[in-house]
Amino acid sequence: MSDMSEKPEWKLDILNASFLCGTPILAVIGAYWYTVNFGISLIEIGILFLMYIASGLSITAGYHRLFSHRSHSASWPLRLFYAVFGAAAFQNSAIKWCSDHRRHHLKTDTEEDPYTIMRGFFWAHMGWVMISEKEQQIEHVKDLQADPILVWQDKHIFKIGAFAGIIFPGLIGLLLIGGFSGFLGGLIWGGLVRLVIVHHGTFLINSGAHYWGKQNYSTKNTSRDSPILSLLTFGEGYHNFHHTFQSDYRNGHRWYHWDPTKWWIKIFSFIKITKNLNKVPNWSIENAKMKTSYEHKENSLNQNVKEQYNERLKNCTRQIRNLLKELKKKRIEYKDAKKNRKILLKETWRQKRIDMKMKIREVKSNIAIVRLEFRILIKEMKKQNNAISA
Ligand SMILES: [Zn+2]
Ligand SMILES: [Zn+2]
Repeated sequence: MSDMSEKPEWKLDILNASFLCGTPILAVIGAYWYTVNFGISLIEIGILFLMYIASGLSITAGYHRLFSHRSHSASWPLRLFYAVFGAAAFQNSAIKWCSDHRRHHLKTDTEEDPYTIMRGFFWAHMGWVMISEKEQQIEHVKDLQADPILVWQDKHIFKIGAFAGIIFPGLIGLLLIGGFSGFLGGLIWGGLVRLVIVHHGTFLINSGAHYWGKQNYSTKNTSRDSPILSLLTFGEGYHNFHHTFQSDYRNGHRWYHWDPTKWWIKIFSFIKITKNLNKVPNWSIENAKMKTSYEHKENSLNQNVKEQYNERLKNCTRQIRNLLKELKKKRIEYKDAKKNRKILLKETWRQKRIDMKMKIREVKSNIAIVRLEFRILIKEMKKQNNAISA
């Protein structure tokens, strides 16, 4: 009897569940029906592409890197753009999204992490949206509740979402293709199909980026770096880096890492729309990388081997940290000297330039040597370890 009267531990959120399950079905049927009846041209593809970029980047650059992590600052026109097209992604208001996301970072992999991977791939991907267990508090977002744009967005989230995400692409279709069928074309491709793609792109960060890939910077939680996921998520696949250095505006920190969100933020900084772009120093990144590379092997190592190599390993990380700091200093010195070169004679500047570049090259080669030393050290440790266990 008591069992019968007990409340179920979880209940289905009917609205969210039917939305998440219904939209992919509607998108497939809509896209098929439209193509059969009206064909498809570059205009429909263009609307889909532009809406995908606008709403996708509003989530990654806006909701995520700007609002949740404060990795840079942005002036109000861009914040308004993120508020409008973020709503078009139908992932809740920025204030609620960031409250969940900040909790995800604070409590990663625990019961309090709203989309913990510990409850399985499906839960982290979309189950957590469809099933409500207890009322989630809006917390850790006082700074966002002080932004009038975000308060306005939170208050009218469904109206803004319906307009920007559904009606607006329809209107573009009406304008560019013409007629009611043009309106439907914009709505289906730029609204529905785009919505499903952006949804699952974002969901994959919570599921796939805690499931597939390498742990290059930290083993403290389940986050992983997956360059392949980055292709589908505007660069958010470098999730292990992101969990380790949350305040960095980049997720892929190397220039060749596919991270369109970081390029978008950087481009706006040239016209002063984004400012204070926060970058973790290279020495800190390299240090984390070395430590993590050691941690991956640590568990399988014999205690004696660990003790024997401890000092040498520490020495390596210390050296690399100092060398990278020195490299940064030398680069700044060179940049400053370049700025002031007009006061020097042509010949003097030529000589100075050669000297400074030589010094930079020297530090770089020292860095390469320490990196190599580190790799050799790790290999030696493994060898020694195998010899002992054999
Ligand atoms: Zn984050
Ligand atoms: Zn995560």
